[in-house]
Amino acid sequence: MSRLRRTLEQILSWDDIRLVASLSSKYCQPYRYRLIGAAICLFISSSAMAGLILQIKPILDGLMQGGDPTLVWRIPLSVMGLVTINGIALYLQGVLNDSAMQRVIEALQIDLFKRAIHADLAEIDAHHSSRIVALLVGQIGAVVSGLTRAIVVVARDISLCVLLVAIMFFRDWQLALLVFVTIPLLGIGVRTINENIRRAMDHTMTAHARLTQALHDVVVANRLIKLNGAEAVERERFREATATREALSMSMTRLRSATTPINEFIGGLAIGAVIFYASYRSQDGASLGNLASFLGALAAAYRPLKRTAATLATVQESITAARAVKAALDVQPTIVDAPDARPLAVTAGAVRYEGVTFGYSPERPVIHDLTLDVPAGATVALVGQSGGGKSTLLALIARLYEVNSGCITIDGQDIRQVTLASLRRSMAVVSQDTTLFDASVYDNIAYGTPNATREQVFAAAEAADAHRFIGELPRGYDTPVGQRGVLLSGGQRQRIGIARALLRNTPILLLDEPTAALDARSERAVKDALKRLMHGRTTIVIAHRLSTIADADRIHVIEGGRIVESGTHADLIRRDGAYARLYSAQATSEAA
Ligand code: ADP
Ligand code: MG
Repeated sequence: MSRLRRTLEQILSWDDIRLVASLSSKYCQPYRYRLIGAAICLFISSSAMAGLILQIKPILDGLMQGGDPTLVWRIPLSVMGLVTINGIALYLQGVLNDSAMQRVIEALQIDLFKRAIHADLAEIDAHHSSRIVALLVGQIGAVVSGLTRAIVVVARDISLCVLLVAIMFFRDWQLALLVFVTIPLLGIGVRTINENIRRAMDHTMTAHARLTQALHDVVVANRLIKLNGAEAVERERFREATATREALSMSMTRLRSATTPINEFIGGLAIGAVIFYASYRSQDGASLGNLASFLGALAAAYRPLKRTAATLATVQESITAARAVKAALDVQPTIVDAPDARPLAVTAGAVRYEGVTFGYSPERPVIHDLTLDVPAGATVALVGQSGGGKSTLLALIARLYEVNSGCITIDGQDIRQVTLASLRRSMAVVSQDTTLFDASVYDNIAYGTPNATREQVFAAAEAADAHRFIGELPRGYDTPVGQRGVLLSGGQRQRIGIARALLRNTPILLLDEPTAALDARSERAVKDALKRLMHGRTTIVIAHRLSTIADADRIHVIEGGRIVESGTHADLIRRDGAYARLYSAQATSEAA
């Protein structure tokens, strides 16, 4: 008994069944009537097939040996009827099933997308984006269509087999028993192969992700590849990835196909045994129709049984992929609204970091017990060598990552106690490189402020000193900016970023080296725009070029995740410490 259970579990384990059940109870539930309809159609089709087998006996015993004369037209008619019913039932089944399946795929894709968009940044940092893409576009379809096809095939074949077996017993129970002895042997082939398929599928999925990744890199980093003459290296990397995947697919095909010879042999064994026994018994004058009908049922059951075995082998692939999908769906983001979160009420816009410690991995903090006050409406500058933790401080206030200890408040409200939407609505970010979407200039400025009027968008562009260059673009505000804004210069992209921030009109402004990537002339244009943007807002600005922040209300020098010096520009120069050293180092290098 336990052996049988083990065998069954190797074909399809409880875990697998639970996995499929939990996914389908969520995603198939809304389409249950369609699916039940499809199942009924399947059953009708199986019954029609069994009905055809039943006709063999009256054909041989009645028709051929001249019995009831009405059989001459009754049998052909019923055969035609059954065939037609079978066809119609299969058609309906296909349509019902596919319409449900497409919607299930759609629902899963939407959920995975939702998962990806709300994922913690830390999780996204840890995975190559192509993995998520591969899961979203590649595997879901494979999972759903693979599993549905499997369920349909197995359900149809098993119901047909049950009917055929009933016919076999009905026609000749002794022969039927004989056949029955051989059926469990079919499981052997599947069992030995499934474990290997599961493993191969895991590898195949990794290989597939690597392939997507290589493709993704070629598109995103094409300029880099060209400039470094790395085309051959990339070609080779891609070729290796395809070769690996090809080898894995081949090994899966071999495994899958290996079920065929095993099953053929067992099927042959059953038929041979029946013929042998039947001829040994043939003296006792059983009807020819009975034997033919029995053999017909046996032959008819043979193919669906084989197909079921082969399908169960392919199910392993879908299940492995389903497990990856389920795992992705199950990861819950940790940075979410607290249950009792209220909207942030910004009264003045004062920001305070209080004893903040944070590390991208908790055991390696990059911010150490840092306390920092940004008075309402003030401009506070963070300076220091790169890697000190300045950008991290900005990411923390937007709650892109969660502090490990300490807290950050805005007007006295802990940012963990307010809704994420209201928190992020209160701040605008302009960073070193403004991310633009492949849309029009207009849509890029209005991104994040969908209900802005045209006049507001133009005014923001004007204040950002972008109106003029936009007017000179081939289609003005309707000009597409190209993927990630490649059709614009760095200075133009920054001014669009500033226009976007102006339009958002937030009380808090976060500037992360907004002019660092610009030449002196574009920097001047951008700086004037920034000045207009900062007016009347609480601003935290990270500056690489210290000359740009000389008039900040307060400057903090950050090193190794700690504030090592604070004061106004004049204070810090007078103190002749870390800031003064940074400043004079820059002055000399700029003069050179
Ligand atoms: P700064 O802006 O002062 O140059 P950052 O805040 O960008 O410094 O980085 C501080 C430290 O955190 C660096 O050691 C950097 O390698 C690390 N770091 C930055 N971003 C990430 C990230 N997404 N995942 C892991 N480590 C990061
Ligand atoms: Mg930085």
